[in-house]
Amino acid sequence: TDQFGIQEALSKLGIKEINDGTSTGSNSFANGEIIESYSPVDGTLIAKVKSSTKEDYEAAMVKAQEAFKTWRLIPAPKRGEIVRQMGEELRKYKEPLGQLVSYEMGKSLQEGLGEVQEMIDICDFAVGLSRQLYGLTMHSERPMHRMYEQYHPVGIVGIISAFNFPVAVWSWNSMLAWVCGDVCVWKPSEKTPLCGIACQNIIQKVLERNNVPEGVSCLINGRENGDRMNTDKRLPLVSFTGSTRVGRHVSKTVAERFGNTILELGGNNAIIVSEHADLSMVLVGAVFGAVGTAGQRCTTTRRLIIHESMYDKTIDVLKNAYGQLKIGNPLDSNNHVGPLIDKDSVKNYLEAIEKAKAEGGKVIVEGGVMQGEGYESGCYVKPCIIEAKNSFEIVQHETFAPILYVMKYTTLEEAIAMQNDVPQGLSSSIFTQNMREMELFLSQAGSDCGIANVNIGTSGAEIGGAFGGEKETGGGRESGSDAWKAYMRRQTNTINYGSELPLAQGIRFDL
Ligand code: NAD
Repeated sequence: TDQFGIQEALSKLGIKEINDGTSTGSNSFANGEIIESYSPVDGTLIAKVKSSTKEDYEAAMVKAQEAFKTWRLIPAPKRGEIVRQMGEELRKYKEPLGQLVSYEMGKSLQEGLGEVQEMIDICDFAVGLSRQLYGLTMHSERPMHRMYEQYHPVGIVGIISAFNFPVAVWSWNSMLAWVCGDVCVWKPSEKTPLCGIACQNIIQKVLERNNVPEGVSCLINGRENGDRMNTDKRLPLVSFTGSTRVGRHVSKTVAERFGNTILELGGNNAIIVSEHADLSMVLVGAVFGAVGTAGQRCTTTRRLIIHESMYDKTIDVLKNAYGQLKIGNPLDSNNHVGPLIDKDSVKNYLEAIEKAKAEGGKVIVEGGVMQGEGYESGCYVKPCIIEAKNSFEIVQHETFAPILYVMKYTTLEEAIAMQNDVPQGLSSSIFTQNMREMELFLSQAGSDCGIANVNIGTSGAEIGGAFGGEKETGGGRESGSDAWKAYMRRQTNTINYGSELPLAQGIRFDL
């Protein structure tokens, strides 16, 4: 039976089962141990895929190195044209890819489709960018000299991605890297390997059609390949999205060999609800922010810092909204909250609630694991709300589940200090209609996060801005604005078109 149309989606996406019962796709380097992909939606084993061995890894790198020699010489706007065609191809496959994202990762179908839309959007962005890889020109202090800077591709970009955005994160990186002239080797999360194969299949068609070497995009699977990438000097840049724990290791290991990283790590995002907030807006922003994707976004709202005069009212409104949440199959658009990714994640969720209680937290909306029909995978949990102190150890920590901590404040300065007083620095927001409050929050004395919003929740960024955060979130920026610069190396050039050779700083060296 193909209750959710998944087999049909897999077949449209070109994911084929081969003789040994494993599934595969194009340009595959996969002869290693089997990774089983279970859906958190209903616990079904969707498919088995093979991971990449050490030899597979080598083969992928050699192919990527070869491809770079050709790709870097294709003019950037021509590379942009190829990325434009990738965007077209993604438009064609939006539906089945969105379905697969939803089924393999567990987010709602709408969010799955939204993730594919983000991929399409970044393709459009990258096409325009391919004609705007600008460097500056400078005036030389020496006569008949010209100075300018230019950006060159770095080579092979390693992309290591997290399970929760199984396709978009790869495209934020790869589409920019490709117009910049780099080639990409992607290692998706072991929890969502089919999403990786599907993306590779989609763009492979475009590469073939344009006679571009397939090593421009290589896919490898298996966690140990992450460590191979960290230590591999052939990768001048590793773009890592995942937990702060693993990111710390990646950061150190890549830095040891003087490689560069783009780190997109954990968040601990707060909304400040001011006494001047429009409560009806807070409701949507906070509830979607806290329970959307079952609390598994890096930008999920984890803390609500509420003005004392608004506290009781806000809690009442939240309690009421949480009471109406429908938890269940994310492919059914009537449901608001889908499953967590796996049972380990459920365990972390339950432990976090216990820790919060042990530290003195007061439960406002009770959590728990859903049981019965429709919840057989054991991954569905109830979003919960706990009154807590910002200083609790568990509040300082990112638990990747729908647990919202609420706390009170008296002055805005105190609220900003609480918002900033966590190790992470990804997303933040304030709900206020007061201009002074808003500007203070956005000022250099305000939020210390990479993203700071006003009257919008913490989650749901657009691709046009640079995305990323400070402190233990890693400091990386991806996607829009000038994030492309991280995928290129800068070269300063000085040209002497005169017949004298004057030295800089007026130094004389007479021979
Ligand atoms: P994770 O850290 O467990 O895994 C992320 C990736 O790292 C996976 O592909 C995994 O195979 C790989 N990996 C594991 N060990 C490695 C090693 N030694 N070397 C190299 N790679 C290794 O994270 P997850 O559970 O998949 O994702 C959730 C986390 O990701 C959360 O903390 C979330 O906040 C974060 N995240 C951040 C952003 C952002 O943009 N800041 C976006 C999405 C997710």
